[in-house]
Amino acid sequence: MTDHKKSRRQMTPEEIDTIRQKMLERKKILWNEIMYEIKHEAGDRHQGLFDTIRENGDRALEDLLESKLLGLVEIKARELENIEAAINRLESGNYGRCASCGKWIRPARLEVQPFSVRCRKCQEQQERIESV
Ligand SMILES: [Zn+2]
Repeated sequence: MTDHKKSRRQMTPEEIDTIRQKMLERKKILWNEIMYEIKHEAGDRHQGLFDTIRENGDRALEDLLESKLLGLVEIKARELENIEAAINRLESGNYGRCASCGKWIRPARLEVQPFSVRCRKCQEQQERIESV
């Protein structure tokens, strides 16, 4: 039994692929739920936004975030923001690197929290600063 996942290292291409697939699937689900809520909860007033999302897919995220509807779907929209940011890091090769200390984040941590931008140590430090 190795502690492969618990040591700080870059994720393998296979692990990155798995995470990317998970995020893409999650993204699809979130957009579907958001579309549903706009359609059924927000009513006709937001038909325009609904159409924008249907036509532009995930490029409509900004419109959604700026819309007055945000209260209704805020948690989902924020999760989408996190997914987009994580996918960008995947594409640029920075995924899994701590934004504070630059070391690799443990893959075991990323599996549980795929949007982590910091290693646990730096994250805890950051939360201490923010809570002051
Ligand atoms: Zn760190």
